[in-house]
Amino acid sequence: MRRETMAIHSGYDVDPTTKAVAVPIYQTVAYAFDSADHGAALFNLEVEGFRYTRIGNPTNAVLERRVAALEGGLEALCVSSGQAALTYAVLNLTELGSNLVSVPQLYGTTHTLFAHLLPRQGVTVRFAESDQPDAIEKLIDDQTRAVFCESVGNPAGNICDLEGLARVAHRHGVPLIVDNTVATPILLRPIEYGADIVVHSLTKFMGGHGTTLGGIIVDSGTFPWRERADKFPMFSRPDPSYHELVYVDHFKAAAFIARCRSVYLRTTGAVLSPLSAFLLLQGIETVALRVERHVENGRRVAEFLRRDRRVEWVNYPGFPDSPYHALAQKYLGGRACSLLTFGIKGGFEASKKFYDALKLIKRLVNMGDAKSLACHPASTTHRQMSVDQQRQAGVRPEMIRLNVGIEHVEDIIGDLDQALEAMESD
Ligand SMILES: *Cc1c(COP(=O)(O)O)cnc(C)c1O
Repeated sequence: MRRETMAIHSGYDVDPTTKAVAVPIYQTVAYAFDSADHGAALFNLEVEGFRYTRIGNPTNAVLERRVAALEGGLEALCVSSGQAALTYAVLNLTELGSNLVSVPQLYGTTHTLFAHLLPRQGVTVRFAESDQPDAIEKLIDDQTRAVFCESVGNPAGNICDLEGLARVAHRHGVPLIVDNTVATPILLRPIEYGADIVVHSLTKFMGGHGTTLGGIIVDSGTFPWRERADKFPMFSRPDPSYHELVYVDHFKAAAFIARCRSVYLRTTGAVLSPLSAFLLLQGIETVALRVERHVENGRRVAEFLRRDRRVEWVNYPGFPDSPYHALAQKYLGGRACSLLTFGIKGGFEASKKFYDALKLIKRLVNMGDAKSLACHPASTTHRQMSVDQQRQAGVRPEMIRLNVGIEHVEDIIGDLDQALEAMESD
C-alpha cells in the first residue's frame, strides 16, 4: 500500500466481533480471563491478548500498527503526549552515567528535558554546535547511547542530514533517534535513511485538528541490541522487574518497544486514552491530503512574505537560496514544510505590533493544526533559554513562527497583509 492508503487502512480491517467498519473505542480498563490458566499464560506472555489498558488497548493497538506502517517500522508504542514519547525513548536505552549527543535545534520543551531534567537523573545531553554530522561525531564517547535530532527542527526549520547522522551513530555502535513531528511520514520516512527509532508528537500534523494530545515511538526493528549488549545490557540481561524476562530472546527484533511498554509505560503510566487514540486515527485518515495542502499554502505564503517590503527575512527551505534547499530536495522531495519563520522590519516592537494585529491567524503555541497559527518563540516556547541558547536553537527576538493552515490561501495572505498594514499605521 502507498502511504495515502495506509493512513486509512493499516492496522485495521473490520472489528472481528461486531463487523464495525470504524475503529471501535475500547473504553475499558481491564479484560476478562477465561480461567486462571489463561490469566497466567497472558502474564507469562505465552499467549497474545490484553490484560489492563495501562499496558495495551485494542484501539491504541490500531494506532500503533497504523503509524508503524506509515513510518515503515516494525512496532510502535503510543503514549499520552509527544513529550512522554521522547522521555520513554531516551530512558529505554540509557542508565546512570550515559550520555546522548543531540543537534542544538530542538523543540523548546525537548531542550528543557535534555538540558535540565535528564542530567538530574544521571543522563547528560551534549549539544553539538550545529546539526552537521561531524559536529555530532566530535561529541560521541564510550558512554554515548544515542544520537538525537529532529528531522525538520521546530521552530528552526533546519533539515537534518539523516543519512550522515545515521552513519556517524552507527560507526560508534549507537542508534539514531529522530523526532519526525514536523515532517510527518507523508513527507519523510527517517527509517529509510538509517534512523533506528522515530518519535512523534501526534498532537500536531498527524492528529491535525488541535484537539488531542498524543505521542508515539516507532522502532525500525533493525538495531542490533544483542550484539551491542556492552552498551545496551538492558535488552539482553534478565529483567528482575519482569520475572527475569530477556527482551531480545522473547521479543527478538521487537525488543525495544516491548521493554518500553513493560518497563516504562507499565510502571510510570503515561497512557494514551482510547478515545484520544480514536480521535488521532480520525485525523490520520486525512493526513496525506492535509499535508499536501499545508505544503502548497506554505509555499504561497512564503513567496508573499518574501516579496513584501515590510518583511526583513523569511526562512523557508523551499527557496533555492536557502542553505537547506538541497536537503529539502533530498529528504522532503522538494516539499518544504508549512512551518516557516520570518522577521518583520523594525525588530521586536514591530513584530509584536504585527502579531497583535492578526485576526484570522490565531496567536498560540501549537502547530500542525488545520488552522493557521502564529507564535512568538522568544517570549513563549523558548523563553527558558538564554539569548545565546536561543540563537543556537535558531530563535531570534523578532522571529514569528507561522503554521500555515489549510484555509483558502488568499484568506491567509489577506490576514498577513492587513496585519502588516496595521503595524505601519499609528
Ligand atoms: C509539540 C512537539 C513535541 C511535544 O509534543 P506534545 O504532544 O505537545 O507533548 C515534541 N517535538 C516536537 C518537534 C513538537 O513539535
